[in-house]
Amino acid sequence: RSKASAHNGYLVYQESMSEGFSAYLTLGGGLRKAIEEGQFELYYQPKVRSMDEATVGAEALIRWHHPEKGMIPPDQFIPIAEESGLILPLGEWVIRRACEQLKLWQDQGLPPINLSVNLSGRQFLQPNLVEVVKQILADTGIDPQYLELELTESMLMSDAHGTIQKLHDFREMGVTLSIDDFGTGYSSLAYLKKFPIQALKIDRSFIKDLGIDGDDDAIVKATIAMAQSLNLKVIAEGVESRNQMNLLTDYECQEVQGYLFAKPMCSDDFERYLGAFGKAEVVNA
Ligand code: C2E
Ligand code: MG
Ligand code: MG
Ligand code: MG
Repeated sequence: RSKASAHNGYLVYQESMSEGFSAYLTLGGGLRKAIEEGQFELYYQPKVRSMDEATVGAEALIRWHHPEKGMIPPDQFIPIAEESGLILPLGEWVIRRACEQLKLWQDQGLPPINLSVNLSGRQFLQPNLVEVVKQILADTGIDPQYLELELTESMLMSDAHGTIQKLHDFREMGVTLSIDDFGTGYSSLAYLKKFPIQALKIDRSFIKDLGIDGDDDAIVKATIAMAQSLNLKVIAEGVESRNQMNLLTDYECQEVQGYLFAKPMCSDDFERYLGAFGKAEVVNA
């Protein structure tokens, strides 16, 4: 009996190991096919200006419609795409698709928005990234001021020298740069001053207990105050309640994103949302 269970234990252990590995292989193999077959879609989540709650932007968020597994969230396949290198064609597809969609909305005369796209670490290290983005903007006819690229602290900290050049190239082009998930990495605002970035997105983990955990209120207030003095725009991520929204407005956080206003939506739904909640005069707020 004990031998059998030891044997079983061994088998279970082996199985779970190979299950993890085969999930990797399955998703990884599926990814390649998914790119070829166009199983990806971009969803769009509104970025809302605190002052009047107008929609002034959107974040493009990728979704994978897997033929058997259904919708797979990005946290599950972006890391695999990173490891396999498929993030390069996939990431390029995201930027192109986002710009094409934005152009359609602009041509329809919908209220102007800026559209942000997440970059992954490996994608950011791609030597010709700046040229790739420039080409996509030219092909789609998007004015660079309407494109925002979301980076993470770790991308900026990895190889400070080449990184700064790349950031300057994007700035020269007129693209907006922001730091995503701010506060979860190891950078300080003082350090960030060295980088030509324009916005900080305060990570959802600091917003969750706003008004409940005094430390979070202190952190968020201090981040907003310092960002303001460095001339950076602040966006709060993951705003789910009216109470959080009221506090953030008090703290003078310029923009928010979160389920309180809307979850990420398919392009048709976002188009209706923008028609209803956008503002004609907003330009790259
Ligand atoms: P992120 O860039 O920080 O995006 C925000 C995530 O928070 C999104 O999850 C969004 O749906 C979710 N969110 C927004 N508001 C709320 C809220 O009020 N409450 C809660 N609980 N969640 C909220 P999603 O779409 O699953 O994306 C997860 C992450 O995957 C993103 O985090 C981003 O890092 C990555 N990602 C998404 N699309 C892409 C992409 O096209 N390229 C790359 N490289 N990464 C992507
Ligand atoms: Mg993001
Ligand atoms: Mg992110
Ligand atoms: Mg984030």
